[in-house]
Amino acid sequence: MPLKDPDPSQNFFDAIVVGSGISGGWAAKELCEKGLKVLLLERGRSVEHIVDYPTATSKPWDFPHRGRMPLKDLKEYPIMSRSRNKLNEATAHFFVKDADHPYVEEKRFDWIRSWQEGGKSITWGRIALRMSDLDFEANVKEGISIDWPIRYKDLAPWYDYVEKFAGISGSRDGIDHLPDGIFQPPMPLNCVEEELKEAIESHFPGRYLIHARQAHLTQPTPEQTELGRASCQYRNMCSKGCPYGGYFSSQAATLPAARKTGNLTTRPDSIVHSVIYDDKKQKATGVRVIDRQTHETKEFYARVIFLNASALGSTFILMNSVSGRFPQGLGNDSGVLGHYLMDHHFGVGASGTYEGFKDKYHFGRRPNGFYIPRFRNVGKDQRDYLRGFGYEGNTKRPRNTSPEDFGITMKNAAAIPGPWVTELSGFAETLPYFDNHVRLSDKQKDQWGLPQLVMSAEYKENERKMRKDMVNDAAEMLEAGGFKHITTFDDWKGFGLCIHEMGTARMGHSPKDSLLNRHNQVWGAENVFVTDGACMTSSSAVNPSLTYMALAARAADFAVREMKKGNL
Ligand SMILES: Cc1cc2nc3c(=O)[nH]c(=O)nc-3n(C[C@H](O)[C@H](O)[C@H](O)COP(=O)(O)OP(=O)(O)OC[C@H]3O[C@@H](n4cnc5c(N)ncnc54)[C@H](O)[C@@H]3O)c2cc1C
Ligand code: SF4
Repeated sequence: MPLKDPDPSQNFFDAIVVGSGISGGWAAKELCEKGLKVLLLERGRSVEHIVDYPTATSKPWDFPHRGRMPLKDLKEYPIMSRSRNKLNEATAHFFVKDADHPYVEEKRFDWIRSWQEGGKSITWGRIALRMSDLDFEANVKEGISIDWPIRYKDLAPWYDYVEKFAGISGSRDGIDHLPDGIFQPPMPLNCVEEELKEAIESHFPGRYLIHARQAHLTQPTPEQTELGRASCQYRNMCSKGCPYGGYFSSQAATLPAARKTGNLTTRPDSIVHSVIYDDKKQKATGVRVIDRQTHETKEFYARVIFLNASALGSTFILMNSVSGRFPQGLGNDSGVLGHYLMDHHFGVGASGTYEGFKDKYHFGRRPNGFYIPRFRNVGKDQRDYLRGFGYEGNTKRPRNTSPEDFGITMKNAAAIPGPWVTELSGFAETLPYFDNHVRLSDKQKDQWGLPQLVMSAEYKENERKMRKDMVNDAAEMLEAGGFKHITTFDDWKGFGLCIHEMGTARMGHSPKDSLLNRHNQVWGAENVFVTDGACMTSSSAVNPSLTYMALAARAADFAVREMKKGNL
């Protein structure tokens, strides 16, 4: 179907936001609420809240293959099918078919893409944690890479601001390096987790087991209910889209808030090709767009441009934006654009069974677990590697069936829950390395004639060393908690599979070694802001998206103040 404009003659806006995922939704909301006419460009299809969640209320038996993708369909997802638990019949429509969007793997890179309106805000795991000065100061203290140009105090009010609107459930735990936020009540730990918490905190001073901090409503505010959002129903079906708006997504939260202002124009199926830079004016004037369906090209113009196409999407656009002034890509005087690519490393930890509490069960289908914040290289702890890791944990009482059971035997067995099983799964910081990078292919193009990205990144010695502790520490904590049958795992995953890709257009103090200044402005093109994961100077060990939200809201506020002063 050809693309329709709300008003086809209208191609001048106050602001353009590229990408409608977690960070782009925030940029659009903030700019609209501050009175700017905003064009939100999205490369993927339109996804309407509730209407376009076709499987949201489906049961496992509603799927023709009980959730598993048939082999013929898997062929269209060669990257995602490397890790089948990420791909199933219930959610495949929220991920792009890899075969349609090829890239070059100089080194293995598992790039998981939700290219649609709402981006990965529909598919994310919703763990929402703050970074701290342990993270912001690490590079400069250790002499790694470059210093962050901001500190926790710069971001703290913006974390407050985004948490209040997004709705984060969690408890205030008073841990310096995992700062508390504005939380709605936490989802309760179950009896085994309470027991494990006590064991860990008494055996290992400095280690804590805390409630998951997650973007789920447990006590919605009037602002949230006015947007049509409701408390989480404990269904654990979030990856199919939430018809209650129980978790934070662009569809449930930021986009309706932006629309309420009357200032938002959204344009799905619009692939941003590049930013238009005017050498004489020394600023960007707009963007070039390719229609996803018709392949027609079009230009849109604005006073400020926010790139929120996800880390590699925004970096692609910067690299593809060449001009007389910036022959190596927009803002790339330093030559670091595309470099210092990071992802967290994971797939490592331990699990065990708990033999008590056989008369107890858990409440509902809680869509989260618990968290053990980083304790390595914190305070006096000193390891033979830099940085650290946290654990995401979960306890279940799975059914007591075995694959051999059939008929009545299977039904009887399914009625009795098995023993409690707890898993601790580590998520760890990766250092920023210059040679971990992406670049544009000079040979391979996609179906729109755009150069493909070449991926070239790998984990190194520091990450390898850390994983020994990630296995051993998990096992020793379960042991201290009285768990039995403890098994450990250390399953290296492809770079990218943690889906926390970040870096490649980092923030810094100087255009000599960074792309963005402390307000996320592109050096030399100050009316262009990049407020997604591309801007990250280091990766921390915590899940990153809350930080992108805070950075996007902060930069939008700054941009509008600068526009009012006539500086942009
Ligand atoms: C299964 C899963 C679990 C996750 N769990 C967590 C978690 O628990 N906690 C956490 O913090 N993070 C988690 N993440 C990561 C999180 O989803 C991302 O960090 C976050 O969505 C990044 O936000 P973003 O705005 O940068 O990108 P996205 O949300 O990916 O949005 C980018 C948007 O830009 C669009 N776009 C791209 N290129 C162009 C272009 N050229 N022109 C126009 N539009 C374009 C895309 O279509 C997309 O809609 C998870 C992700 C997944 C998939
Ligand atoms: S568990 Fe909660 S947030 Fe997830 S889909 Fe159900 S109601 Fe929505």
